[in-house]
Amino acid sequence: MARLVLKFGGTSVGDIPRIQNVARHVKREVEAGHHVAVVVSAMAGKTNELVAWCREASPIHDAREYDAIVASGEQVTAGLLAITLQKMGINARSWQGWQIPIRTDGAHGAARIQEIDAGEIVRRFDEDQVAVVAGFQGIAPDNRIATLGRGGSDTSAVAIAAAIGADRCDIYTDVDGVYTTDPRIEPKARRMAKISFEEMLEMASLGAKVLQVRSVELAMVHKVRTFVRSSFVDPDAPGMGDFDNPPGTLICDEDEIVEQQVVTGIAYSRDEAQISLRRVEDRPGVAAAIFGPLADAGVNVDMIVQNISESGDATDMTFTVPAGDLQKAITLLENAKAEMRYDALQSESGLTKVSVIGIGMRSHTGVAATAFKALAARSINIKAITTSEIKISILIDGDYTELAVRALHGVYGLDKA
Ligand code: ADP
Ligand code: ASP
Ligand code: MG
Repeated sequence: MARLVLKFGGTSVGDIPRIQNVARHVKREVEAGHHVAVVVSAMAGKTNELVAWCREASPIHDAREYDAIVASGEQVTAGLLAITLQKMGINARSWQGWQIPIRTDGAHGAARIQEIDAGEIVRRFDEDQVAVVAGFQGIAPDNRIATLGRGGSDTSAVAIAAAIGADRCDIYTDVDGVYTTDPRIEPKARRMAKISFEEMLEMASLGAKVLQVRSVELAMVHKVRTFVRSSFVDPDAPGMGDFDNPPGTLICDEDEIVEQQVVTGIAYSRDEAQISLRRVEDRPGVAAAIFGPLADAGVNVDMIVQNISESGDATDMTFTVPAGDLQKAITLLENAKAEMRYDALQSESGLTKVSVIGIGMRSHTGVAATAFKALAARSINIKAITTSEIKISILIDGDYTELAVRALHGVYGLDKA
């Protein structure tokens, strides 16, 4: 007998038949004698609809009310799954974040979990009760509902797994594991049996939305045995209930992976925008003067390129921001033009950041050059580059996203045989 957390994403609970299918996955584990906590997302598309309603009601709105609204999607699915399980003869009840409670910080809209009191859930395991927990939500110090940022149900699941000391956390989704790149873009992508925490962290933070970044961090810190697997399979097919080796991808420590590739995967993130400040006065403190106010306004600046301008006495500063923050950034920079002392501001949206990720890069040279060549061969222009020990990110025109992802996937030998 073990403790398991099963998380089901939006498409997995998209309608009542799908919820019934999810209930059969839960039933399989319960009948195997395990104690189960289930975490559910809102039905597919629901959170987007709720977010759009907030914006329609008022483009600028109270983040606490935003949370009250967008957290409601998960409440519905938790109740629906509890009813479905009860109908199948399984003892189950739904839990909202505040009822457990899952305590978060006060950063409404992107809150971080600080503490989970899982005592009652665990006590009810002794009564063979299944806990169906609404993902994506908790309660902030101001006693109001807080949400964990888009994709946050993954984080709820891993955090609950850590809190109850689960033997495994299964993230059920609409793909059967983590692939070498998004299988929707590259059909030749291969499913990995295992991926290291560090590489998964990079993949997630560079755009692979299969797991929310924070969930990977928590799994890494708390050593939660986390699998990504599909809900879109017959719950009773052979091997589905395999305790040690369920079908899917295990996120694990680097040393659990026997054959390490140089490049593990390719990620991409669309909707990037670029801003260039031309002829910024070249003096100490200028970067602080530009990026300080952007940071204060909550604009997430990513790739930064600085080069000396033609005359040598000024510098050009180019950087990227999420497209959604572009207007805010431009307004802020234009208003501060006098203090920042630049000549002109240029911007461009519709860009994509493609990234090559692999722990093997630490000990191999030439990985970046291979990427540049592959893109050049397809006449894809590179607008900016950043690198770290285990990744290379390249900014390109968004129209070339698919082409670039497939080119990079192929050039590192990741294509399926
Ligand atoms: P859920 O609603 O279950 O949380 P998401 O839509 O958030 O599901 O995440 C699953 C999606 O992530 C897949 O449908 C896939 O298109 C996308 N994805 C992006 N990169 C990858 C990758 N490397 N491996 C698997 N899926 C990926
Ligand atoms: N429903 C939320 C979202 O769409 C949380 C999640 O699905 O993980 O972002
Ligand atoms: Mg998700």
